[in-house]
Amino acid sequence: MKYRIALIAHDKKKDDMIALAGEYKAFLAGCQLVATGTTGGRLVNELGLVVERKHSGPFGGDLQIGSMLVQGEIDCVIFLRDPMTPQPHEPDINALVRACDVHNTPCATNVASAHLVLSQLQQQAAN
Ligand code: PGA
Repeated sequence: MKYRIALIAHDKKKDDMIALAGEYKAFLAGCQLVATGTTGGRLVNELGLVVERKHSGPFGGDLQIGSMLVQGEIDCVIFLRDPMTPQPHEPDINALVRACDVHNTPCATNVASAHLVLSQLQQQAAN
């Protein structure tokens, strides 16, 4: 099964996202990836991953990904949020996380939980 994974990172978490995705690069390269605009741009340019890029988060990218999720097109969300910086699109962020809860979709919002989710999916993909 080809997992469909959404990747989103707030500005101060983007380096963490690149490091994380770099660690799982071989696995992620076999997945269908979607990301918000700036996060996706870095994943493409710095890691060479193939990523469907939506709008940047503050311009509706989280909502676009939320819409995909509601339509059953996303298996897992890695959303590295910055809890220390107010975000202009806080309602969109909450909407995406809520959609994950409504649809019982795994949503990792920090690096530690992202490792757990990605390592588990990677193992499932290998079996
Ligand atoms: P970005 O959006 O990847 O375009 O920066 C992420 C966000 O701020 O939600």
